[in-house]
Amino acid sequence: MKTSIKRIVTCALCFSLALSLFASSTLSVDAKAKKKTTKASKNVVVVLDAGHDNTHLGCHYEGFEEGIANLYIAYYCKQELEKYNGVTVYMTRYGFDCPYGANPDSSADCLTGRVNYAKSVNADILISLHNDYDPDLDKSQNGAKVIIPNPNYRPDLCVKGSDLGKSILTNLTTTGLTINDWKLCPNGTGIVTRDSENGKYPDGSAKDYYALINKSKSSGFPCIIVEHAFCTNNSDRINHLSTTDQYQQLGIADATGIAQYYGLSLK
Ligand SMILES: [Zn+2]
Repeated sequence: MKTSIKRIVTCALCFSLALSLFASSTLSVDAKAKKKTTKASKNVVVVLDAGHDNTHLGCHYEGFEEGIANLYIAYYCKQELEKYNGVTVYMTRYGFDCPYGANPDSSADCLTGRVNYAKSVNADILISLHNDYDPDLDKSQNGAKVIIPNPNYRPDLCVKGSDLGKSILTNLTTTGLTINDWKLCPNGTGIVTRDSENGKYPDGSAKDYYALINKSKSSGFPCIIVEHAFCTNNSDRINHLSTTDQYQQLGIADATGIAQYYGLSLK
């Protein structure tokens, strides 16, 4: 019961947030129409992927629910990014339900659906927004990291992912988050790759481990996964993953990092 009330309240909050975002994006379209652009620079298409959903649940710990947190961060990121010229922002989901096959066993199909959606809107970049959970409940693991495409098959996408990831991480640290030194790839930078053990690209090189990244690479565009903070770390959870204001800070940091990477200017 408690959970369903919480869900209804959260749904209502999310709906009102969506309405305000819709209103502001309508206004921004009007404002844009009145403004005469003097140079035709390429419009950047950013697809934000709020990781997980009600069917494909993310991590749960001490009342934290990843699928809900990621959706808030994505909405706030979109809202902030739309303050800039030259960018179109889409989201792979706008609600709690899975739009790509609501079956708990179909996470692979769901991820394929998200990449296909990004491809259908001609994405320049797919940015998947997540939060982390240490599977060993190692509470000392904390901070932010960005998983980028490995250098195989399309090395240019690795470079793009690395530069964008650094820009986002720089902004995330302004919220007080540290850089996570991932134990699977402890290089101290927070910019990490992970190879598949068996999967190969057409040139025989190792695929990226994460489906979203390898499917995007095969479709011709880069995908990065932003892991903002650890819900299993008390400081991260209390100071960064507990309130909508904190989610907004994370979304703004992501958007600022994206805008700086693409050299976007405010409207
Ligand atoms: Zn996740």
